[in-house]
Amino acid sequence: MTGSQLRQKYLNFFKSKNHKIIAPAPLVLKDDPSTLFTSSGMQPLIPHLLGAPHKDGKRLTNSQPCLRVQDIEEVGDNRHTTFFEMLGNWSLGDYFKKEQLPWIWEFVTKQLNLPKEKLYISVFEGDGSVKKDEESLKIWKSLRITDDHIFFYGVKKNWWSRTGTPSEMPEGEIGGPDSEIFFEFEEVLHDPKFGEKCHPNCDCGKFMEITNSVFIQYKKENGKLVELPQKNVDFGGGLERMLAAINNNPDVFKTDLFWPITEEIEKITGKKYSDEKNRSAIRIIADHIKASCFLISNGVIPSNKAQGYILRRLIRRASLKMKNLKGNLDPKDFQKIVGAIINIYKDDYFQDEGSFKEVIAQEITKFSNTLDKGMKLLEKVSPFDLFQSYGFPIELTEELYKEKGLKFDKSEFQKEFVSHQNLSRAQSTFKVVK
Ligand SMILES: [Zn+2]
Repeated sequence: MTGSQLRQKYLNFFKSKNHKIIAPAPLVLKDDPSTLFTSSGMQPLIPHLLGAPHKDGKRLTNSQPCLRVQDIEEVGDNRHTTFFEMLGNWSLGDYFKKEQLPWIWEFVTKQLNLPKEKLYISVFEGDGSVKKDEESLKIWKSLRITDDHIFFYGVKKNWWSRTGTPSEMPEGEIGGPDSEIFFEFEEVLHDPKFGEKCHPNCDCGKFMEITNSVFIQYKKENGKLVELPQKNVDFGGGLERMLAAINNNPDVFKTDLFWPITEEIEKITGKKYSDEKNRSAIRIIADHIKASCFLISNGVIPSNKAQGYILRRLIRRASLKMKNLKGNLDPKDFQKIVGAIINIYKDDYFQDEGSFKEVIAQEITKFSNTLDKGMKLLEKVSPFDLFQSYGFPIELTEELYKEKGLKFDKSEFQKEFVSHQNLSRAQSTFKVVK
């Protein structure tokens, strides 16, 4: 099954359950200054989960392109990516647990044919202020899931609110328990460095979360959680991860949403993905350039602030990895990688070639001019000067320091950054007064 087929299968399934397929939100939300990027399917729907009616009704579904910058450092392993798609379905005060859990179980076992013995369930175990999610447990049991496939977790793992655990939720905040399905990769062996016993939330990579049904059923009132009159369902499932489960291969870069990109990088660099020492760099280039294409298609251009800075950081980090792999930096190589990305998404997202190739090539040309100079100066000038005069994102300098085994002091950079800001502010004020 391809990513495109999986996306369509999911949307059709929920359409058959009377859901309206809604267009995904842009990656950069216009009216939300609180965040740089859309990072879940639920985020643009918050006003409706809080009670505002939605023009398309009470049952909604879509596949939402998402970007999570906080995961950037973790990209390089088999499952973390900055860009991903999240399959979502929502009930705005309509159906609840007894519909959602059997539906999603039907979808993964009947539509995707994932073997039941490889699926594990998590349920909220409750804490002092809020009771265990017995309702979900009862439903899972009625679906004949055996006790050894059901795991209970607390507020850290199986509770959702925008602000964290029940005790952290401010007055008026909504939240509730969630219930996930994990897929077990049998051939992955548990690594004892993550704990004595393996379990679905273990970080060793044996289990992968593929679905999460959030039940928004409480509101904080007078310091206590009270049941909401309008109970909502917010479902999210990672498209790439679900595909990895269907392939029974824990490497999301082996799915058709990534593999043609990694093959192109292999061709360009002459370095094999199967060789472990190349793998992380190839994954970083593939993920970062894909994310860059989606950002550019949303109107973002490289710059020194906000979304533009993240785009610059992604392109420059990918460039550095390319230089390490291949020995030189050629904008044409990236045009081939972009070609492979367009090919994957042309039917679903990229109707035309857009300006991806141009924007990325320009940024790489700009960066390669200063990269060699900067590399020579790495140990001679401060990280702030590298940032200010050579356009080295601070995170990149940090990474280069790490590679060279040098000690990196971020607070020193911040001090210089602040004093520079104060200086330019003083200068611009002076100009105005004059
Ligand atoms: Zn484990």
